[in-house]
Amino acid sequence: MDNANEVISFTCNDCGSKKLIVLDKYWTTKKFERVDKKNLKVYQGRLIEEWERVGELGDDHRVTWDNRAEPGAVEEEIDDWYDIDESELHKYRKRNVYQKPITDEQTREVYILCWGCKRDIEFGWSHENRGGGIWPVESPDFNPRQKWPEPRYRESWKEKGWLMP
Ligand SMILES: [Zn+2]
Repeated sequence: MDNANEVISFTCNDCGSKKLIVLDKYWTTKKFERVDKKNLKVYQGRLIEEWERVGELGDDHRVTWDNRAEPGAVEEEIDDWYDIDESELHKYRKRNVYQKPITDEQTREVYILCWGCKRDIEFGWSHENRGGGIWPVESPDFNPRQKWPEPRYRESWKEKGWLMP
């Protein structure tokens, strides 16, 4: 950076807004095992939850989240089940066992929107796999070197010759 003390802000070419909104929508999957004591059955399946959070992107390329992600739609898939004997019930004292949720990065949707005119702003990340800071391509300090595109913009970066070999 030329001058470390200078704050380089994004300014929208269309509406002049300096504020950028970040929208992060993702799905998590939790494997579970559930016991139906009455019918002596054990169900194995997955609980798929939809999450959404909103934040603001700072000049430091970091996000300040306005809210904690809240689960939205919940979907349950039963993959398998088996019968148990009444004498085995003691082994299933804990009725429902849920594993740690895993975020599905393939279906994750991240958007950067201009706060003023709500248009989609193309962006990349400073690290692979959506890691590190978020860099809108319209930021005055944007440089495609050492940046990874948000997957949705991969083709656009390819056309511009920005993809790293
Ligand atoms: Zn704008």
